Amino acid sequence: MANDGRNVAVVLGASMTGLMASAALQRAGWRAVVIERDELELEGAPTARRGVGQGRHNHNLTALATSTLARLFPGVLDELRGEGATVCDVGRDGRWYVGGLRLARVEVGQPQVLVSRPLLDRVLLRRLGASGGVELRDATDVCGLVEDRGQITGVRVIGRREGKEEVIDANLVVDASGRGSRTPRWLEELGFEAPAEDRVDVSVKYTTRAFRWRPTDLDGDRFVYSSGLAPSWPKGAVVFAVDGERWMILQFAYGDAPPSDLDGFRRFAASLAAPEVAQIAERCEPIGDAATYSFPRSVRRRYDRARMPGGLVVVGDALQSTNPSWGLGITSAAMHVDVLERRLANATRPSDGFHRAALRASEPVWGPVRDRDRSFDSVPGDPSWPFQVLNRLVGGTFAAATTRPDLAKLVLEVITYARSPAGLLRPDRVARSLWTQLDAPRLADPRDAVEVS
Ligand SMILES: Cc1cc2nc3c(=O)[nH]c(=O)nc-3n(C[C@H](O)[C@H](O)[C@H](O)COP(=O)(O)OP(=O)(O)OC[C@H]3O[C@@H](n4cnc5c(N)ncnc54)[C@H](O)[C@@H]3O)c2cc1C
Repeated sequence: MANDGRNVAVVLGASMTGLMASAALQRAGWRAVVIERDELELEGAPTARRGVGQGRHNHNLTALATSTLARLFPGVLDELRGEGATVCDVGRDGRWYVGGLRLARVEVGQPQVLVSRPLLDRVLLRRLGASGGVELRDATDVCGLVEDRGQITGVRVIGRREGKEEVIDANLVVDASGRGSRTPRWLEELGFEAPAEDRVDVSVKYTTRAFRWRPTDLDGDRFVYSSGLAPSWPKGAVVFAVDGERWMILQFAYGDAPPSDLDGFRRFAASLAAPEVAQIAERCEPIGDAATYSFPRSVRRRYDRARMPGGLVVVGDALQSTNPSWGLGITSAAMHVDVLERRLANATRPSDGFHRAALRASEPVWGPVRDRDRSFDSVPGDPSWPFQVLNRLVGGTFAAATTRPDLAKLVLEVITYARSPAGLLRPDRVARSLWTQLDAPRLADPRDAVEVS
């Protein structure tokens, strides 16, 4: 407990999950000590840091993730805009190719935030640093947990600058240290068990390049999602106009990596469902080198089934890390933080039953991502039967959304987690969907169906 009588939480990691969790703790009246291995720069041009290797790649924020950020950091969207990020409409201001088909343009009324990860992290970090109640300790490694009679009572840390080891006491330890979290090993060292893991081997590779943005590009549109994905055609791209007057083009493929040299990158772009990706890669001035990332598998750690000490919660990628091609990591982290926030408000021991509740909350990310991935020939395993039935029932609605703005709005609200998929299952929509599928030509190659404009 802090000198002022407040509960103390130690948060491991100052990336998106750690920052959101710290804001939640602060709002609940806790004192949060955030431990981050990297040095955190709060001035100068924001750059990707070592501990967040994915920071050089595009980051989609769903409606759910955006609303959690806006709740935890009031006014953050204006602040991001002021720093050069784009906040626009998710349906009106960009182009969506879903399964190779372009959705009708429609104003959805949900913000689409286009921002580089380094800038996003920087703005949140500054906000936390300025708010009393959160202490940021950078260049510091967490190297173990401290336990007393079945209760985690703190962490052991080593400062990189002084090389000094110390123990930080805490009423709660929040592990937000990402996919590489060492909590499973630390638990074993303390005589508990490492959690079992659910895994989906996807082997997805990413290559991202930046290009100079001009206001006239794409007639003023600010983003393109291209998931021209058929079972035998597993690749796509996400194109964002971000801060620094840059287009960032992230290309991904299951199996072989999209080329990183400029010519190869452009050739890959030309093979995608959305012709806009190649247009930008060809016509805009390239900036800097390519960044690459290799993602072997989605992993969900079953802390809900493990014998756990009290006083410890694991959140974000450290708990569940899904294939980034679907752009939902921050969304599931937001779901975990939302559970934490509710427990801080209502429970005397927030860690009790936490992982069951958190994994249940993020199942709407894990289940569909696992099943969509398993629909590809290159990913082992079959999609679940409920997913296959659902796909059959709503597939025609996605096709009809190419010409019907009302359905495009519904589809976008569902895929950005602004509303549940239940809206797609209204009997009249299912009937129309099934009829549309009977009527539609089979698509051998998604590019056949693309309307080029
Ligand atoms: C290529 C790629 C693209 C992605 N695109 C999207 C997207 O479009 N949308 C989306 O929502 N998500 C996306 N993601 C996922 C997203 O990046 C993560 O879900 C998000 O960053 C949350 O992760 P995290 O904060 O839990 O962990 P991380 O981002 O991995 O951060 C962990 C932090 O903990 C620190 N740390 C680790 N160990 C220690 C230790 N022992 N001591 C001290 N500090 C430590 C690290 O330095 C780091 O700062 C993408 C991921 C990749 C790889």
